[in-house]
Amino acid sequence: MDVFGTMPDGRRVQRYTLFNEQGSLVRLISYGATVTELHVRDRAGKVEDVVLGFDSLESYLEKSPYFGCTTGRVANRIAQGRFTLEGVQYQLAANNGPHHLHGGLKGLDKVLWNSQPIHGTEGPGVRFQYQSPDGEEGYPGNLTITVEYTLSHRNELRIEYTAVTDKVTPVNLTHHSYFNLGGRGCKDILGHVLIVLASQYTDFDSTLIPTGKFASVGGGPFDFLLPQPIGARIGEAPGGYDLNYVVSHHPDHRKLSRQAELYEPQSGRVMTVESTEPGLQFYSGNFLDGTLTGKYGVVYGKHSGLCLESQHFPDSVNHPEFPSTILEPGKTYHQLTIYRFSTR
Ligand code: BGC
Repeated sequence: MDVFGTMPDGRRVQRYTLFNEQGSLVRLISYGATVTELHVRDRAGKVEDVVLGFDSLESYLEKSPYFGCTTGRVANRIAQGRFTLEGVQYQLAANNGPHHLHGGLKGLDKVLWNSQPIHGTEGPGVRFQYQSPDGEEGYPGNLTITVEYTLSHRNELRIEYTAVTDKVTPVNLTHHSYFNLGGRGCKDILGHVLIVLASQYTDFDSTLIPTGKFASVGGGPFDFLLPQPIGARIGEAPGGYDLNYVVSHHPDHRKLSRQAELYEPQSGRVMTVESTEPGLQFYSGNFLDGTLTGKYGVVYGKHSGLCLESQHFPDSVNHPEFPSTILEPGKTYHQLTIYRFSTR
């Protein structure tokens, strides 16, 4: 453990470095419960960093587009930042046009978490905990959130989340790493080959809010049921890919299931995504525009990384037909997502 930087109020941001028996390494910081580096082997054994990020805390504080962080309390969008629970209307910040995105102006990505190392049988890990006070960012209830990262010896980054509340409140947590399996020399992710095990997505309007309909991927540009290079039809997706796949419709979906596989042909690196969540947001780094310079001096242009975010569907709090994101007192929110690395 070392100190990554100091918050403007003087608190220290801790950094943890975990290693596993496969030669992989992950670095995590307590600001935003964030992955800053993730190094894995290619097919020739060369270890490289496969996530986007910054060298300094200042860059994370000033300009991070959610690199590697934990997003919430409600990841993704809430239409107009508004919802009603038990007859009370809540108005959250509009930080994405008229909508609420990733927990608001100061979401879980922008707070300092308590942290401690953990030593499970699977591999080394870090437990982050944060107490979000009642009313924070407009959300009801004191919410206690725990995120545990483990770098397993089977070469998985396992992320397990739990949360408890003292008032009824929506919760939808996810992980926001931007992956580029080609490493720092790989300009963009357009040559990555993707599989998404979903035949439907939540149909969305021009501001990325679900219309409430389920649309079929049906052989169109959103169809990744069979492996497709991301660049093959990205021109047909408005601005690039930024949509929520319906991996399961089941209202009580809790089973760990495979959602996606990503393969980078040059390096041979493969990443599979498994999760207990019913949805998967695929975001192809559309808003990266060359204005951010990250680790190793790399300039992040459009599509230089992609996010595969296991979560509940966007704006679920306003869609009773979607699997519920409502957490009640006495119940525990739980989700597990596993990113598994191998080569081919
Ligand atoms: C969303 C994008 C958003 C990005 C911000 C993603 O999770 O799907 O619409 O622009 O996060 O970095």
